Amino acid sequence: MIDVLVVGAGVSGLTAAVQCRAAGYQVMVVEDMESIGGRVKSATIDGDYVGDLGPSWVWPPWQPVAARWIADLGIEMFPQFEEGTGLLDFPGQVERHPLPGQHGIARLTGGPQSIVGKLSERLGDRVIRCGVSAQTLVKLSNGIEVHLQTLTDKPDTRNQNDSIVQARHVIVAVPVRVALETIQFEPGLPPDFRRQMAETPTWMATQAKVVVHYPKAFWREDGLSGRVASRVGPLVEIHDHCGSDGSPAALFGFMGLTLEQRQKHRDALPSLIIEQLRRCFGEQATTPTYLWIEDWALTRSVCSATDCNGEAQHPEVRPAALRQALLGGKVHFATAELATESPGLINGALVAGEAAAEAVLKSRN
Ligand SMILES: Cc1cc2nc3c(=O)[nH]c(=O)nc-3n(C[C@H](O)[C@H](O)[C@H](O)COP(=O)(O)OP(=O)(O)OC[C@H]3O[C@@H](n4cnc5c(N)ncnc54)[C@H](O)[C@@H]3O)c2cc1C
Repeated sequence: MIDVLVVGAGVSGLTAAVQCRAAGYQVMVVEDMESIGGRVKSATIDGDYVGDLGPSWVWPPWQPVAARWIADLGIEMFPQFEEGTGLLDFPGQVERHPLPGQHGIARLTGGPQSIVGKLSERLGDRVIRCGVSAQTLVKLSNGIEVHLQTLTDKPDTRNQNDSIVQARHVIVAVPVRVALETIQFEPGLPPDFRRQMAETPTWMATQAKVVVHYPKAFWREDGLSGRVASRVGPLVEIHDHCGSDGSPAALFGFMGLTLEQRQKHRDALPSLIIEQLRRCFGEQATTPTYLWIEDWALTRSVCSATDCNGEAQHPEVRPAALRQALLGGKVHFATAELATESPGLINGALVAGEAAAEAVLKSRN
């Protein structure tokens, strides 16, 4: 029996694993996807970082836990570029207009993937198993039995030779709606707890994010900040997304279309996006080097069916009952949405991961 099994290798799961391992516990992390990071994902060219397909920003003045981890991991920050004029993209006209920036908003060199990379380095080899999904958690007298399923090399098929791991504690670092819909618990979770899980939306899970890479940041030369607020779309919000010294040069945007619209117009989306960028930034915008569209609503281990079918809601601090350990005090839930600070955000994932590890360490058995 191992000490701790962590389900999910996003920021919260990796943080919890690092804390437990630093306390001398034997830890295993299983991750459903074939790479770590969860909602943290980079756009790369030939392996080199270009931008963020998941989160980009931290707000260190208001996020002391994130500020502490970023410093401890030796990651550099730089301010979000907001110099110059913004644009209002209205039907029939694009207007130059000052758009208010956010005080304290910062980006990370290498993107949030650098947090994920540095946390996994601390765990060392053979701790994380990717392509392995936790299916069922069964209460034992002295711990939890976890039934795992391993991805085969054939897409969308699972190895029937499931494996079983027994752990003294399990940290479920999975968006709670995903956990509710995809993981079996024996005995079942209390009805009130299940209801609270169902009422906890997964922040940004239904979003689609677009990163567009250019040979140079031509908009900056034109006195533009790269910031656009649009009532036309398909991108409702656009931001400068260059590296700290202006290179690599990129813009990013959030799509304003529903999943259904995105699916229906999937093939036309790149040209609709380029047309919007041409309208806003001119002809140079029509020749990007790369364009990525990351539709998070299609990632089943992040976006639950409930998220897909409901309205996106801004995260708020969830009831304390959701942070209690269940199945004999051996199963701890830890995901950004359950944090007592910055729920839904990277800072929340760090807070939730620390809290779950602390609960495991406190229980001492
Ligand atoms: C487009 C977008 C933009 C965002 N922008 C920002 C931003 O600018 N600033 C900010 O602070 N936050 C932002 N966020 C939110 C931020 O990404 C999250 O708060 C954070 O990444 C959540 O980490 P997590 O570990 O709690 O969950 P996740 O990253 O969702 O990780 C959960 C992991 O569990 C895995 N998993 C699920 N089920 C199983 C299973 N049964 N077995 C094994 N593994 C499983 C999943 O595959 C996943 O890897 C953004 C998110 C998105 C999608």
